[in-house]
Amino acid sequence: MIRPAVHLDAKGVGPARGRHPWIFSGAITRVVGDPEPGAEVDVHDPHGVHLGRGLFNPKSQIRVRLYTSMDEPLDGAFFAARVRRAIALRSHVLGLDDLAGACRLVFSEGDELSGLTVDRYARHLVVILTSLGIAGRLEPILDALEEALRPESITLRTEKGVGEEEGLVVKDGPLRGTPPTEHVIIQEDGLRFAIDLRTGQKTGFYLDQRMNRARVAAYSAGRSVADVCSYTGGFAMAVAKAGATSVTAVDASASALELAARNAELNGIADRLEIKRADAFGWLEEVAAAGRTFDMIVLDPPRFARSRAGLKSALQGYQRLNRLALDCLAPGGVLATFSCSGRVSAEAFQEAVARAAASCGRPLRILERLAQAPDHPVSTACPQGSYLKGFILAAE
Ligand code: SAH
Repeated sequence: MIRPAVHLDAKGVGPARGRHPWIFSGAITRVVGDPEPGAEVDVHDPHGVHLGRGLFNPKSQIRVRLYTSMDEPLDGAFFAARVRRAIALRSHVLGLDDLAGACRLVFSEGDELSGLTVDRYARHLVVILTSLGIAGRLEPILDALEEALRPESITLRTEKGVGEEEGLVVKDGPLRGTPPTEHVIIQEDGLRFAIDLRTGQKTGFYLDQRMNRARVAAYSAGRSVADVCSYTGGFAMAVAKAGATSVTAVDASASALELAARNAELNGIADRLEIKRADAFGWLEEVAAAGRTFDMIVLDPPRFARSRAGLKSALQGYQRLNRLALDCLAPGGVLATFSCSGRVSAEAFQEAVARAAASCGRPLRILERLAQAPDHPVSTACPQGSYLKGFILAAE
């Protein structure tokens, strides 16, 4: 049987040759053959020169996900080898194989596995699928994970919207083994965290902030700290352990804060933690109006920009949130501020923070520039994988 193929226009060739994994429908001039959803296709330039192979999805804006520039089959063995390579990076280069800990084992484009993310929480794995093609090759991927790691369980979670975007209908739940009935407890930097693998945000924990929690904690001894958008208290625990005099964790989610309380117990810091369920903007306004200040504020809001159209309002949101935080920051205070919007560049985010500082005439100095942890690697072929940025700033 002749393999179906797609032909690209001149504009689409550059990214594909540079091994960018997303081939959008607009870059395709011709589809030869009649590929099924999820089928393997050859990718050709306008002159018919072979550029690689990918998986086809007629429903998705990303019409083809390109996985190789070689002429090789995209079968179970191919994806199993990619999974083993991703695991080897965490183990051999990053040294993240403490089985009591947690890490991201596979990060989609960052591991040349566009559409597949796998996190490990102690001995339990959580898989997230964002591509139809990968979903069709899940069994060999699970076999490879089991063979390499012998996990107690593998659970499937799906991202909101993927049904519409990819035409992918999957049911969340256990895939292999027996998932924990309660929480999994993981260790990070000498702290313990309870994780809800089934209903927690992301896959249960913000693994991308692991190293940043340690960096922020380095400034916290002897300071009163507000952890704004705390989720289950990742930063709150880290600063409390590092010697913060008091910590206030603020989040809009009641279930996240329940776990924050549990985490405080697990780490013996409950006596120094105040928990507040509130909207971040409204809470900061109230704090400022009451004349209360903190020596250090962590701002880790959810993604503000989900599309290019939302970029302007996202930047206004960052400016406003950072300005409100500055109004609550004591003289000589430290601000740790993050953006996880992939659409917002580090430069644009820095400008939003600068506008916030200028609006209250309060000089800020950047002490550290932060990014996502290295188990969330960024492929140079797909710079869009770089999404988390942050600054630790010293205020006047
Ligand atoms: N800092 C956390 C991760 C934060 S994720 C960690 O290290 O684990 C962003 C958090 O913001 C989520 O917990 C979400 O519930 C919360 N959130 C979203 N909108 C909010 C709002 N308007 N006010 C307060 N919290 C909000």
